[in-house]
Amino acid sequence: MARTGLVLWFEEADWRDKKLLGGKGASLAQMTQIGLPVPPGFIITTEACRKFYSSRKAEMDELERQLRGNPPPAVRDEIIKKIWALIDQCDLPAGLMEDVREHMQELERRTGKKFGAADGIPLLVSVRSGAALSMPGMMDTVLNLGLNDNSVQALAKATNNEWFAYDAYRRFIQMFARIVLALDEKPFNDAFDRKSEQFAREAETTYKDELDAIRKLYPEYTPRLDAQPPKDIAPRLWARSLELIKELVGEYKDLVRKMWGEFPQDPYVQLELAIRAVFRSWMNPRAIFYRIANNITPDMADCTAVNVVTMVFGNMGWDSGTGVYFTRDQSTGEDRPYGEFLPNAQGEDVVAGIRTPLGLDELKKRMPEVYNQLIEAGKKLEQVNKDVMDIEFTVERGKLYFLQNRPAKMTPLARVRSAVEMVKEGLLTKEEALLKVDPEQVRRLLYPTIDPKVKATPIAKGLPASPGAASGQVVFNPDDAVEWAKQGKKVILVRVETKPDDVHGFYAAQGVLTSRGGMTSHAAIVARAIGKPAVVGAEAIKIDYDSKTFTVNGVTVKEGDWVTIDGNSGSVYLGELPTVTPELGGWLDELLKWADEERRLGVRANADVPEDAMMARKFGAEGIGLLRIERMFRKPERLEALRRVILAADDKEREAHMKELADMIKPDFKEMLDIMDGKPVVIRLIDPPLHEFLPSSEELLAQIYDLREQREKAQASGDAAKVKELDQKIAELQGLYNRVKALQEANPMMGHRGVRVGVTYPVIYYYLTRAMAEAAAELIKEGKRPVLEIMVPQVSDVNEIRFVKNNAILPALSDVEKEYGVKLNVKIGTMIETVRAALTASEIAKEVDFFSFGTNDLTQATFSFSRDDVENKFMNQYLEKGILANDPFDTVDVKGVGRLVEIATKEGKEANPKLEVGVCGEHGGDPASINFFHGAGVDYVSASPFRVPVARLAAAQAAVKEKLGIRGAVGE
Ligand code: PEP
Ligand code: MG
Repeated sequence: MARTGLVLWFEEADWRDKKLLGGKGASLAQMTQIGLPVPPGFIITTEACRKFYSSRKAEMDELERQLRGNPPPAVRDEIIKKIWALIDQCDLPAGLMEDVREHMQELERRTGKKFGAADGIPLLVSVRSGAALSMPGMMDTVLNLGLNDNSVQALAKATNNEWFAYDAYRRFIQMFARIVLALDEKPFNDAFDRKSEQFAREAETTYKDELDAIRKLYPEYTPRLDAQPPKDIAPRLWARSLELIKELVGEYKDLVRKMWGEFPQDPYVQLELAIRAVFRSWMNPRAIFYRIANNITPDMADCTAVNVVTMVFGNMGWDSGTGVYFTRDQSTGEDRPYGEFLPNAQGEDVVAGIRTPLGLDELKKRMPEVYNQLIEAGKKLEQVNKDVMDIEFTVERGKLYFLQNRPAKMTPLARVRSAVEMVKEGLLTKEEALLKVDPEQVRRLLYPTIDPKVKATPIAKGLPASPGAASGQVVFNPDDAVEWAKQGKKVILVRVETKPDDVHGFYAAQGVLTSRGGMTSHAAIVARAIGKPAVVGAEAIKIDYDSKTFTVNGVTVKEGDWVTIDGNSGSVYLGELPTVTPELGGWLDELLKWADEERRLGVRANADVPEDAMMARKFGAEGIGLLRIERMFRKPERLEALRRVILAADDKEREAHMKELADMIKPDFKEMLDIMDGKPVVIRLIDPPLHEFLPSSEELLAQIYDLREQREKAQASGDAAKVKELDQKIAELQGLYNRVKALQEANPMMGHRGVRVGVTYPVIYYYLTRAMAEAAAELIKEGKRPVLEIMVPQVSDVNEIRFVKNNAILPALSDVEKEYGVKLNVKIGTMIETVRAALTASEIAKEVDFFSFGTNDLTQATFSFSRDDVENKFMNQYLEKGILANDPFDTVDVKGVGRLVEIATKEGKEANPKLEVGVCGEHGGDPASINFFHGAGVDYVSASPFRVPVARLAAAQAAVKEKLGIRGAVGE
């Protein structure tokens, strides 16, 4: 055999090598090798696909990069055309088709079937795509390959079922035309619909007696040309449908001839074209778009394999069928078989959600042995793969075949519950369970539901396909969803059913609503995969794409109207309903308890107000890592007081106002320290530039002009008292205006803020510290255990810390200790958020008890990127053009900012072994960044309350990965 090494039998391929075999190929090899019934076949590896593309790779990579920029549709279509023109110039690897031919001949020997011949039992194959990562519905597959004018007759003879043979041929031609020859599908669909309608009409009239007889036995039967009528009960109807299918085959061949050329009769020509088409589908726009949206990089999945599998038929009559089986409930995680079964149907029908399938319990009733075999195989596959599995199967005349297995896509709840239960069943270790759950999924568990207190009546009900509640304005097509979303609108994408081509609309929408399809329809799978709430199969909804409306029970909803969908219950509501966030369930608590046992990093929360603090405690925060006091100044009387501090003419006046302000905010500090009793609360001294607390100069000018106008009128009317009053007001405002102007800075972010305010006005830091210290002292006197830590922002030199410590913080603490007669034990720390602070950490560390990295400002300072502006200015372009791999404000920039974190942590701890090091920038809640911080030797991260559970899990994963020697996600 002239083997290229690019074609492997299911029996021989190493199923652990998903990158080479693709997920589907690996699963077929695995199932074959563990003894499950799999139709014989072989895999053309992803290496063959890479070779196929190799000659044009550079050009194609460039075009793919352009597509990443999400160009307008016209440009996008141009790029796609260019890609396809390049693909036409790609050649299959040398020797591949010879190798494939030899495998086909061996397959003929193994199965005793013949490929494309008029006699004997015909060998038909499916030619299936499959990349290393599951990309549901994104790439192409061709079924029934090998049928031609000869083999269709052989198939009819061999199966003794001419109807079945011609139906298979008809499906094949249509699929081949659409996928392999890339012809417009519409004329084929139109021809089918015409014939199917004709058949249904005749069935209800000419063959009414036979139709009634069928319905007695199979109540779900509806006369359609793609479902075989039972011949024994309805022989005339059966014969009529066969006639119509044969006519359709003729019409289809005519269409192909007109649009492309003679339909290829040589099965090897069919096979070669199909292999090319599957390779090509790796680069079809929806696959590219899916990879971009899901950040699938070449090291995760690079090209598709092609699986050539002997066909088995689920549409060989009512003792056949096809289905999907989840080894556990993929919505709740409950350990019970869940799935769908469609009798007398081919696989695509289930996934496309064309017909509403039956539950597995129905399969159990109809074919108990098949059912038992299925369940047993499910258990075995769970054991081998250590995961909940999603299994595709087909029953051909009572015999069960497995066509694919893969880890099930599950709701976050199901993911967590099944991981925990699998530990209890001994299937997983705790470490493995911790790695099973994506920390972002935990966040989704905290997704909002509709506030139960709201009494709203749903206008429709569908299947709860993907959890979470979402509101938005209705749009009916995915392009509109993208357009509207770009304008900042929230939209709900409403479709009859969705196709893989619609997926860009999913990303743009808040949620998805369909009127057709089941829990495994495309809409449901994709929505779950990307975590968008979805309600599918809301059949009462009648959608009219032309008028852009839907109607349900007498209500008409237009494009742009607001609706709310609840992906937890399947309900659809009119308008925008309020939502609430769910309680953490028992399973999540358990998983997070295990996470707490594993993690080394501490997890605190960024919380400024009591509600946040309570939420943080509930979610398991071990303290508050950052309390920004600025939120406390939002109350009008406090803002007024702060303004008086800022505008004070001299130190004496400033001190008086500051004292007053400190008394106002002390109760807030006390409340926060009390809520977190026994746990540290890091309170940061004032940080933003002072003028942020003053009215803007434009605002003041406008007020001054307004008053001047009033003054003129008053003068004209001779109202001297009013003139005097207005003059005084104008003078006051003018004074304020002058002060605001004087405080204005060209670069406020780099201006008079943070510790610089403490240096210029120590009295401000003194009284803020006093307020915190008094709050703690009062609590101590009440028998509580407040743990106060005071933090200084924006430090860049050790002398700044020394200065504010000696002139404000320490005097305030000792004054309070004396006055209250208590010992406070307050830690004093600094933010590390300037580059200089990071680089001089060894000096600073000697003056403080703790560091906390302000990675927001540190990122800003390291890149010289304005953190307030980049996202709306150039960041998208930087990402699209591949200049940066991630937005450094989302995931820590390991090479630059990360390096500073490492240096400062190491040198800081060397200089002061007791130094505690935290991170309180947004990165403290980002799983990939947390993985990095773990490795950098940080002691704790601090994240917004809702991210606390995410951080607990991510920190545990970092520790487990380190233990097991698995590399982390960032900085590889
Ligand atoms: C930071 O800079 O990372 C930080 C936590 O402080 P702020 O976001 O308040 O500037
Ligand atoms: Mg900062």
